[in-house]
Amino acid sequence: MRIAIVDGYTDEPAGLGVPPYIDVYPRYVAGAAKAADPGNVVRYFTVDSMRGDWPAALKALRGFDMVVVIAGVTTPGKYLSGTPISYDELLDIGRLEGPVKILGGPVARYGYGLEGGSIAHPPSKFRRYFDIVATGDVDLVVYEALMHGLEGASPSARHEGYELVDEFAVKGAFVVQQHPHFANLVAELETYKSCPRYVSGGCSFCTTVAYGPVVYRRPEGIAREVEALHAAGVRHFRLGRQADFYAYMAEDTGREDLPRPNPEAVERLLRGVRAAAPLLETLHIDNVNPGTVARWPRESAEVTKLLLKYGTPGNVAAMGVETADPRVIKINNLKADPEEAFEAVRLISSIGAVRGHNGMPWLLPGINFVLGLPGETKETYELNKQFLSRILDAGLLVRRVNIR
Ligand code: SF4
Repeated sequence: MRIAIVDGYTDEPAGLGVPPYIDVYPRYVAGAAKAADPGNVVRYFTVDSMRGDWPAALKALRGFDMVVVIAGVTTPGKYLSGTPISYDELLDIGRLEGPVKILGGPVARYGYGLEGGSIAHPPSKFRRYFDIVATGDVDLVVYEALMHGLEGASPSARHEGYELVDEFAVKGAFVVQQHPHFANLVAELETYKSCPRYVSGGCSFCTTVAYGPVVYRRPEGIAREVEALHAAGVRHFRLGRQADFYAYMAEDTGREDLPRPNPEAVERLLRGVRAAAPLLETLHIDNVNPGTVARWPRESAEVTKLLLKYGTPGNVAAMGVETADPRVIKINNLKADPEEAFEAVRLISSIGAVRGHNGMPWLLPGINFVLGLPGETKETYELNKQFLSRILDAGLLVRRVNIR
């Protein structure tokens, strides 16, 4: 079988796949195709590479047996190295005659719409054009379709654990070499699904908790994937696919809203990654819950020091502060009050701001605000400003302030 993967790029709260990042979706799909049959031929295209001659690119896709499109931007940003696939481009591919067409990624789960919370086109719109709109894990859906035919594939199929993911991840690592930005790529790595805060329902605006109970991926599986990516030529890695890096394998997950970090497990993970990639140049993380850091300062300090030991400079602990208005925090079941968020910034900045070999601070907090949350008033913005001024007055460094 000849399988084409079209990367229309993805951006979610826990996962980035806009260049120079390559997310897990196309890599896992490539691995699923090889796991189904090592003789399957996989070709990877980015939507940007197709735009050079769109009609010719569409014509080329017609020559494949299966076309898998990955797309979905649920946390829109400003991108410098790539432009996510447009709605019309998605439909153009959906209208192709010949190949089996499968749509996967956040767009298949939540729909298409660049305005964050508002979805302009629900997933049902794409069912007219694609043979399968994979609301589950697209790699597993592709695997089932290749193994059992279209009728044997459930669009909502989801991995129950990480056994197959670990296999697909290793077998699909080769596909990075087909990326136009290769080898200047950052490979996004997955450490777990869902968010420990699912026990309390999670933050009002967040879709991550929809995955249900947290399932952690073992350090050995991640290390094997890194080894395969490193062998394929990847030198830059980000442990970004998780709700809260500091909560990796945290004890009391499933019982506590903010479970206690497990520095031992974090060290096993980081040590394994470094051992698997001796020529690694970048090891960064994404997503840290300020509530975890404030509630567990001793363990969080340990994790921060581990990131200095095993990570590389220029790292960002992106923290969803969201708002500094206590009323908005309560209404939206957010994770930390302003005092806790400040303490989290202080702890990470005071340990992580030392300069690394390239002159950059090793690890700084990043601050994410979400605007437009239920309960906001004019005063909310004043409180947000005061929160930022307090950080400035305290002389603490942050890498960036992200406003969504
Ligand atoms: S802490 Fe809140 S925003 Fe972050 S992943 Fe969990 S539920 Fe979502």
